[in-house]
Amino acid sequence: MQRTHRTLAALALLLAATATLGGCGREGSPPVKGPQPDRLPVYQVRSDFTLPDSATWNRAKKRGRLVVGAKEDQPYMGEKDPASGRYSGFDIEIAKMMAASLGFDPARVEFRTIASANRETALQNGQIDYYVGTYTINDNRKKLVGFAGPYYQAGQSLLVRTDEDDIGGPQDLAGKRVCSAAGSTPYQRIEKDYPKAELVAYDTYSVCVDNLLTFQVDAVTTDDTILMGYAAKVPDELKVVGKPFSKEPYGIGVPRGDDALRFALDDAVAAHQKNGDWKKAYDATLGLSGVPAPPPPAIDRYPAS
Ligand code: GLU
Repeated sequence: MQRTHRTLAALALLLAATATLGGCGREGSPPVKGPQPDRLPVYQVRSDFTLPDSATWNRAKKRGRLVVGAKEDQPYMGEKDPASGRYSGFDIEIAKMMAASLGFDPARVEFRTIASANRETALQNGQIDYYVGTYTINDNRKKLVGFAGPYYQAGQSLLVRTDEDDIGGPQDLAGKRVCSAAGSTPYQRIEKDYPKAELVAYDTYSVCVDNLLTFQVDAVTTDDTILMGYAAKVPDELKVVGKPFSKEPYGIGVPRGDDALRFALDDAVAAHQKNGDWKKAYDATLGLSGVPAPPPPAIDRYPAS
């Protein structure tokens, strides 16, 4: 009983933390662990840039702003402050550097939250110009969308309550209730490789975490980048266990067939890695988890589709 109370208190704290983070720009209330706006790089906007062969770019130029898909409940990566509506995190910074390279002021980027299961449709029906949100590049998805990058490589891992001693890796999931997001690669991997686990799916990982804190599930599985962020919010209640058991190279999703845009974004990722923006953005966001910046993965400039 006491344990349940403590965990519910942690849940309240987690929700409150999610609600206040990003209000971090406000005077007198520096964040303890959230992205640090003062340390974020300012990206040089390429005002002379044009990309006439890209239908997506032309449409955005006419509109006067970019519409970018992202996540809103993934601390350090993509998080929306409900009060200001502002998005922050490493993915958000990547989206902004890409905008600057495409000739758009990052202030002119309009972010839209799109869940894992809806990314391909959003790109296919023109709801967004590109997508930056812990989006793993793989061959199945390449049939539906294009990917620039990768700009980072994550790995699948497990999040459990701190008092959990039975789960140390995916081999321990038999008979356990494991939560992940519908349409995600971690969900698919558990389904295929660990069929004895009892899989539970929601649209978002934050709902999985609520379920973990209230004892509805035994573990949450997705990329280490995402899980570290949840654990950091309530370290007394949640821990990441085991070693990453997959490779999740993160790409920038673009409409399939818009190779002009894809190659321009490949060039942009390379340019921002070279000029130091990537590292600075990492240090001010995901780096706050305590993991130093790894060397960025090599860009996979695959041939035109
Ligand atoms: N990177 C994985 C994926 O793209 C998991 C994270 C997510 O769902 O965004 O499916």
